[in-house]
Amino acid sequence: MSLSGRVALVTGGTRGIGLATARALAEAGATVVLTGRDESRAKEAASAAGAAAGLALDVTDAKAVSALVRGVAKEHGKLDIVVANAGIMEDALLGMIKEELVDTTLSTNVAGTLHTVQAAARAMMRKKSGAIVVLASIVGEYGSAGQTVYAASKAAVANIARSAAKELGRSGIRVNAVAPGVIETDLTSGLSEDAKAENSSRTPLGRLGRPEEVANAIRFLVSDEASFITGQVLGIDGGLVL
Ligand code: NDP
Repeated sequence: MSLSGRVALVTGGTRGIGLATARALAEAGATVVLTGRDESRAKEAASAAGAAAGLALDVTDAKAVSALVRGVAKEHGKLDIVVANAGIMEDALLGMIKEELVDTTLSTNVAGTLHTVQAAARAMMRKKSGAIVVLASIVGEYGSAGQTVYAASKAAVANIARSAAKELGRSGIRVNAVAPGVIETDLTSGLSEDAKAENSSRTPLGRLGRPEEVANAIRFLVSDEASFITGQVLGIDGGLVL
């Protein structure tokens, strides 16, 4: 599954699934640019992942996303792969949801993903090829108590992938989503030991997932091996939803 000669951008690549994805794409031979909100953290992560560069980007800023994507495509001559991974998760029961939580979650997860897909499409349309992956979630497909805002945001992300796939297919651009279950990263580090044990026991594979296991699926989806796959939401959850 060589990605040699490909240019890839991974948003939210400073840790967790994004960092593992940047590493997996670089190991497959791609020239990878990763981003995070803080420039020095992004540079550190880039060196850890074997990426070509680590740049500062807040995905809630549409103009900044557009400028960064244009810049990467200009510097490397093209852009083949974009992984819109940046995202946040904060839990709140219905009665406790504050407007600020709604704003930050939707502006990061929904608008941030949309900005990234729009900018990627613009860069890829010229050469009529490309592969985009967005980060949905099993809770976006099935819902989750205490996670109404996050689940709604991830349902939107899955539908960004489906709609963009329909719109961009004739331009040779594939768009897919992955829907991870519970993966051990900073995002889920706040889960209680009880919650982790319950999720593991409900999972047929009997454990939580690792960032590399999501990264491997993303590497497949952006490769030529997946050349007839678009508009899909691929569950990576050890069977949790069964
Ligand atoms: P982490 O919290 O470990 O990492 C999140 C990444 O997103 C960091 O690199 C962070 O960078 C970046 N980020 C957050 N907000 C912004 C922003 N406004 N602009 C730019 N970058 C931002 O999360 P995970 O690796 O666990 O999750 C990655 C994706 O996978 C998310 O979209 C998440 O919703 C999704 N997912 C995760 C699951 C899990 O169980 N872990 C399950 C299902 C989906 P920095 O802070 O350096 O700016």
